Amino acid sequence: MNKYLDKFKDFFQPNEVVKNIHEIDFARLKSQGITALIMDIDETLIPRTFHDVSPEVFEWVVARKEEGFKLCLTSNSRHPLRVKYIGDTLNVPSMSLGLKPLPFAFWKSMETLGSKPENTAMIGDQLFMDILGANLVKLYSIYVKPMTPETFLPRIWMRRAEEWLLKEV
Ligand SMILES: [Mg+2]
Repeated sequence: MNKYLDKFKDFFQPNEVVKNIHEIDFARLKSQGITALIMDIDETLIPRTFHDVSPEVFEWVVARKEEGFKLCLTSNSRHPLRVKYIGDTLNVPSMSLGLKPLPFAFWKSMETLGSKPENTAMIGDQLFMDILGANLVKLYSIYVKPMTPETFLPRIWMRRAEEWLLKEV
């Protein structure tokens, strides 16, 4: 592969690829020194069209808290009330209009979590927002496969581009 293309693709490579949040090995993350989790919402925790949290996700968040992780929800969503409702339901801080992959949302989230890049993981379903942004501020990045197939053409193209960028799946 062209070495410049290869370097370009490096910006988008997550540290880990998982099928869903339940596949993540949190004991190992903890042993790596990760104590704080920045979570994307849409298609990572709940499908984009859902407005409430499933019992499974609620239990998943409670389990992480019991393991000692600090969490915050950091979304690019333009629906602040929905994001706040989900954050309040899960009893974790939340942020909408994050403008990921710009670094501000990640910096602000780390401030909220009281964490540093070396002990923070970003968990999200979009290479162009969650993973690129996390890599730029040097967080541990975990790419979760989106929960539902895309039906909107620009998003289908985006997923194709993600597949092309990912070096290994
Ligand atoms: Mg998402």
